[in-house]
Amino acid sequence: MREPLREAPIAVSPNEVTYNRDAWVVVDLTAIAHNTRALRRWIAPAKLCVVVKADGYGHGASPVAMAALDAGADMLAVALVDEGITLRDAGIDAPILVLSEPPIASLDDVVGYGLTPTLYRREAIDAAARAAQRAATVLDVHIKVDTGMHRVGAAPEDLVELVRHVAESPYLSPAGLFTHFAVADEPDRGFTDHQSDLFDELVAQVRRAGLPTGIVHAANSAATMRKLAVHDLVRCGIALYGLAPSPAVGDPLGLRPALSLRARVSFAKPVAAGEGLSYGLRYRLDTESVVATVPLGYADGVRRILGRRGGQVLIGGRRFPIAGTITMDQLLIDCGPDARVSVGDEVVLLGAQGDEEIPVQEWADLLDTITYEIVCGLSPRLPRFHQGRERS
Ligand SMILES: *Cc1c(COP(=O)(O)O)cnc(C)c1O
Repeated sequence: MREPLREAPIAVSPNEVTYNRDAWVVVDLTAIAHNTRALRRWIAPAKLCVVVKADGYGHGASPVAMAALDAGADMLAVALVDEGITLRDAGIDAPILVLSEPPIASLDDVVGYGLTPTLYRREAIDAAARAAQRAATVLDVHIKVDTGMHRVGAAPEDLVELVRHVAESPYLSPAGLFTHFAVADEPDRGFTDHQSDLFDELVAQVRRAGLPTGIVHAANSAATMRKLAVHDLVRCGIALYGLAPSPAVGDPLGLRPALSLRARVSFAKPVAAGEGLSYGLRYRLDTESVVATVPLGYADGVRRILGRRGGQVLIGGRRFPIAGTITMDQLLIDCGPDARVSVGDEVVLLGAQGDEEIPVQEWADLLDTITYEIVCGLSPRLPRFHQGRERS
């Protein structure tokens, strides 16, 4: 195992660090802590599972997980076994739920690293029991039932027998029962209520059969923020990062966005009227203008089309348009005829500078997607700086 991150100095400012590039992500861990506390108050006495899959939605899974646990989160959730192992290697010993059934071949690692698998097929239940038996242990498992999203989960009519199968194994312990909502972020709550009612009925069936459910959970961020189907526990991802699940849900909790994307101007020069900028020369200057170059591009997750869709950046607290095609490693900014912009000036692509702010939702709107895809899409090539960790 590597040295635990818990002991490492992770609150570093970009200015003190020796990364050899002038583009970086800052993650404010005090925002993560604030959001964790806000969510806990919102759902009390229910427990909070924070979802840190996909490297904490691009924010850095281990530092985010530690900040959330310090602020009172009860459990972590990941999509992949390897994501759980990364958290364990960072020294995190909280319960970690793997949200879908792990590959059978990974079950020895699931047991070895003390992860909690989600199960919904007999074959996987039997394989998990054998893995636990090999390790001479009893493995906590959660069972997932499909109430209408049709992604993964047991069919409702199979649920009681599956729970019985788990409960009868001496090597497995039924620690949780859950489902997942398909449209909790949409204004019409009809189908979410339908899923929720079906789930309640299934939980009741399991109990009537005299079987244990473990902790019962359903809500994602959207359902949590709307207080739909808050059972024993909620599983929140996007809200932890301070982003709304959708404009329709908005943010009734006063969350704080944790992530900003920053860079420094790497080159700046006046360019004459009539000239075209970047590949394709599609952006034409009507007047002479100062053009600044910023050293990040689509290989960093700044989508190539963003400029043509009206994407902007902040320099000196003012908005300027991204000019022309975004290239793999660099993009251009049209700073106008009389701008004073120099090499080294800070550029904010996402987040606040002075009184201005570019929210993640702005990119999501321009790019016809959701905030989730924007933050998950920021590539590992961008260094992440974690600021303001509160130590317990
Ligand atoms: C990703 C995921 C979540 C978290 O969803 P958010 O909308 O980010 O809160 C919860 N449960 C499951 C099963 C997931 O896959």
